[in-house]
Amino acid sequence: MAKKEVKEHFEGLTVVPKKFVKKLERIKKATKKINFRCNGSNCDDAWDTKKRCCKECESHFGYFGKFEIISTSPKYYIKRFDEKDGFWRSGIGCILPRKKRSYICLKYCCRDLDKKNERKLCKFFYKLRKIEDEVKECQ
Ligand code: SF4
Ligand code: SF4
Repeated sequence: MAKKEVKEHFEGLTVVPKKFVKKLERIKKATKKINFRCNGSNCDDAWDTKKRCCKECESHFGYFGKFEIISTSPKYYIKRFDEKDGFWRSGIGCILPRKKRSYICLKYCCRDLDKKNERKLCKFFYKLRKIEDEVKECQ
């Protein structure tokens, strides 16, 4: 991934006005309470034994979609993005705190969720949509 491309991608995302920063980060952080049934180091997903589901972080810009809203300056991401590994680091995993990760990374589950956790995930989406609408109205 060329540096120029990385810069362009993150600079194209929408940075939320200050008054939404805490709210957006709170919503993202709350996904910590969802049990995704990830068993991390014992993961039996064969397609990449090291990076596992973070395998293509670098080619997908940390899974930040073109129209994603972010709570911090693009510089924050550009500075941390590695051309070979994206935001993933050997022995550490993801270097982004949950509140700064993309929606896709926060909602990813490789296994079926039970009803209770499915509901929590739906709530997460609902809150995200709502804040996206609020931000759009402000622009
Ligand atoms: S989310 Fe699934 S694929 Fe990713 S590390 Fe956990 S168990 Fe493995
Ligand atoms: S969780 Fe972090 S390292 Fe993994 S794909 Fe997402 S941004 Fe990359």
